Amino acid sequence: PFEVLVVGGGPAGASAAVYTARKGFSTGIAAERFGGQVLDTMGIENFISVPYTEGPKLAAALESHVGEYDIDVMNLQNAAKLIPAKQAGGMHEVVLENGASLKARSLILTTGARWRNLGVPGEMEYRNKGVAYCPHCDGPLFKGKHVAVIGGGNSGVEAAIDLANIVGHVTLIEFDSKLRADQVLQDKLRSMKNVDIITSAATTEIHGDGERVSALEYKNRETDETRKVELQGVFVQIGLVPNTEWLKDSGLELSKHGEIVTDAKAATNLPGVFAAGDATNVPYKQIIISMGQGATAGLSAFDYLIRTEPA
Ligand code: FAD
Repeated sequence: PFEVLVVGGGPAGASAAVYTARKGFSTGIAAERFGGQVLDTMGIENFISVPYTEGPKLAAALESHVGEYDIDVMNLQNAAKLIPAKQAGGMHEVVLENGASLKARSLILTTGARWRNLGVPGEMEYRNKGVAYCPHCDGPLFKGKHVAVIGGGNSGVEAAIDLANIVGHVTLIEFDSKLRADQVLQDKLRSMKNVDIITSAATTEIHGDGERVSALEYKNRETDETRKVELQGVFVQIGLVPNTEWLKDSGLELSKHGEIVTDAKAATNLPGVFAAGDATNVPYKQIIISMGQGATAGLSAFDYLIRTEPA
């Protein structure tokens, strides 16, 4: 058993583990894929103090920082079930998909999230080559260009407003017959000159020249007509899904979006169970924020362990 078991090996998990290991606690990390979403990222320009890096490079840096400490990294391990301790100070149990189970007095859950994909031809092929998911991250790469935002909910409309300030032109594409974002955001978007909004539009394909995105094709759901818009970028904003399915029915509180509910100390409703990063209800999903909340979770786990008698 560990004193601290971190589930998830992205920026949040790596940060939490370094913090608890530095407190002298035996720490393990169980991760489906060490590195997390960072592995799928190309350029990173908003990790403060590092003006430019790339996903695989940052993932390798996370691994080497974790490797500086006596942290037991169990990669390619998928957590399938959480069985919380029966009493404070007791052992929590994480059952892995392969049937094995790991125990620890304190848990830090950092299983992250995944962007919902469109699932149309061209999306995977041109990911990071014009197809993007994070306007805070990739918006500035499209300065002066024509981009589309897919999705007319709050995140899509916010992304379109954000991008309209940076890029040349934004086309917002919504599947439904109307936008679902808050009215104040819709009003703001409609007041911007370099934006057009297309509703009742099902994206059918993202085209490219082999190297980069060149156009987006959609079908008008009312007329069945197909149209092609020439552009250089497509931001997919149809939802971020937390990787918390495995926590359902464990007694851990999740929000209606499936996010782990945490407080300012990264504590969950279960004593000794902390959480950090994109899997939680922390506002804004970013590397630097995940690492910060991971550090908070690590320090909170330390605080819990020194104050709680082992049961
Ligand atoms: P994740 O990185 O999602 O890591 C989750 C970890 O948990 C992984 O190791 C995963 O394998 C593991 N896991 C999941 N489920 C289980 C399970 N059941 N059992 C065990 N392990 C599990 N942010 C920026 O700040 N700047 C950027 O430029 C930027 N660009 C991005 C580009 C792309 C294409 C994407 C997808 C995201 C980008 N982000 C960027 C967002 C950033 O990657 C995330 O905010 C950050 O990675 C969240 O860290 P995390 O540790 O919370 O979760």
